[in-house]
Amino acid sequence: MSAQTITCIGCPMGCRLRVLIAGGQVASVDGAGCGRGAVYARQECVCPTRMVTSLVRVQGRHAPLSVKTARPVPKEKIFACLQSIRAARVTPPVRIGDVIVADVCGTGVDVVATMACTEGDS
Ligand code: SF4
Repeated sequence: MSAQTITCIGCPMGCRLRVLIAGGQVASVDGAGCGRGAVYARQECVCPTRMVTSLVRVQGRHAPLSVKTARPVPKEKIFACLQSIRAARVTPPVRIGDVIVADVCGTGVDVVATMACTEGDS
C-alpha cells in the first residue's frame, strides 16, 4: 500500500487529498470537500490525463495555427502527441473545430483547430 497527497483542481478550493493506493487501485481518499475530489483522485492516481495544446504549421503562411486535443489524453502519451502535432501541416481554409489530426497516437482523441484561418491570412 502506498500513500500520495495531491491537490484537487476541481475548483478554487484546491483541497489537499490524501490518497491510499493498494494493488494499483485507489483504496481511500481523505480531505475532499465534495464528491468530485474522490473522482479526481481516482483519475489522477490511476490513469492521469491532460489536455494538449500546441501549434501547427500552415502551408504558405508564417503564423501557425493553434490546436488542442478535443479531450484529455493519457499523460504518458503527451510527448508522442506533441510529435504528431509537430509533423502535421494544414492548408487553409481552416475553421474552428476542424479536425487537424484524427485519433492522435491511437488515443481515440482528435486534435482540433482552436482558431480559423483563410487563404488570405498571412
Ligand atoms: S474536492 Fe471538491 S471542493 Fe475540494 S477542490 Fe475538489 S472540487 Fe473543489
